[in-house]
Amino acid sequence: VTTFAGRKVALFGLGGSGLATVRALIAGGADVLAWDDSPESTGRARDQGVTVFDLNEADWSGFSALILAPGVPLTHPAPHWTVEKAREAGIPVIGDIELFAEERRALAPGAPFVAITGTNGKSTTTALIAHILASAGRDVQMGGNIGTAILSLAPPAPDRIHVIEMSSFQIDLTPSLDPSLGILLNITPDHLDRHGTLADYAAIKGRLVAGADRAIVGVDDDLSRAIADARTGPTVRIHVGTPQAGFDGLSARDGTVFDADGTPIVDLTGVGSLRGAHNWQNAAVAAACVRALGISDAELVAGLRSFPGLPHRMEEVARRGRVLFVNDSKATNADSTEKALTAFHDIHWILGGKAKEGGIVPLAPLFGRVAHAYLIGAASDAFAATLEGRVPYTACGTLAVATAKAAEAAAASEAAEPVVLLSPACASYDQFRSFEDRGDQFRNLVRALP
Ligand code: ADP
Repeated sequence: VTTFAGRKVALFGLGGSGLATVRALIAGGADVLAWDDSPESTGRARDQGVTVFDLNEADWSGFSALILAPGVPLTHPAPHWTVEKAREAGIPVIGDIELFAEERRALAPGAPFVAITGTNGKSTTTALIAHILASAGRDVQMGGNIGTAILSLAPPAPDRIHVIEMSSFQIDLTPSLDPSLGILLNITPDHLDRHGTLADYAAIKGRLVAGADRAIVGVDDDLSRAIADARTGPTVRIHVGTPQAGFDGLSARDGTVFDADGTPIVDLTGVGSLRGAHNWQNAAVAAACVRALGISDAELVAGLRSFPGLPHRMEEVARRGRVLFVNDSKATNADSTEKALTAFHDIHWILGGKAKEGGIVPLAPLFGRVAHAYLIGAASDAFAATLEGRVPYTACGTLAVATAKAAEAAAASEAAEPVVLLSPACASYDQFRSFEDRGDQFRNLVRALP
């Protein structure tokens, strides 16, 4: 990245992707002073030849920018004061995607750059778009908020498509965001702790759409629809449900994606990785995106149908006889678990962990789909109280016990396709390192079943 060639920049955050950013800046001729409040990170960076400098001691007037590494939690005190110092000195605070955007303008201004945001479905849609494009033989680089840091990907080139997932935080750090295709899936009032008011949060998401040459916007919530309405450039609207007369975008209902004139484009029935109405939205958005990139409908259909899905999101782990095992460990709140309960019947439901506010009370309308509940972790007693008299349950303590009991009961049940579903509606930290760890352990337990 040559934007800062010959200039001095400050960088905060020396984790893995922070180091990738430092390396890219140094390779482009910048003079980087980097800092992190973890001695382990600064030590490793020093070993790799990075100039480590306590930014608290720095003369901020000499810097051209403060760069925050991906994954730096702004709530943490150290980045917070660094940002304050930078703002006082009047220098821009940016992230690695800003560096990428500048690099693209310098190297390959017309190169396809797809940026994806939304409250929910970002990773699934990003992975789905990249999968369809790769299946059609395109040169695809996927990263950002999912997987690889953007500056560790291959650089922009005319026929290379960058498919980049962006959190609100990353949009905030990318003042010149100008994707060739900007995608907004939805806006719901999650994560407001980090972004202040809903209006602020929507305004950040709106910037990604406003800066895009072409936009694709899910119009099923009011805030996203208002953003689509405010667009002047080319925009494809995506709607789940039966569209009103005059709707000219793509829509999805009952597992099928439809063109503006009502012609079916693809039937998703039987595509296990794209179950549920929320995934129809993701699929319709992906369809609009790859069409805009010149993918034929035949390639689009083939790509959608072969999408393996992402781990931990309604992931089909195994089938044992009639029993389907599903890992939905990413469902850390009732909202996400609702999607999984809606997608199946005859559910042997493994849930619990560190509960969120409201617990599983909002899921009561779906309890009829549950054959039996298996409780784990800290939330057990509270969840038992909600289930009492409505769903039979067993307090299992650990995931291992719950998996064994659920598998046994599902195999013995009379249902045509019983499902053992891990969809905890809880954070994992009481018993696991992360939701990934929880899902991986579940997968291993299922594979080890007799
Ligand atoms: P993100 O990257 O935005 O966190 P993911 O693709 O990882 O989203 O999906 C996380 C969870 O969000 C899924 O398990 C599902 O419960 C829910 N979800 C996925 N897509 C959508 C969507 N389009 N609308 C609403 N909820 C969704």
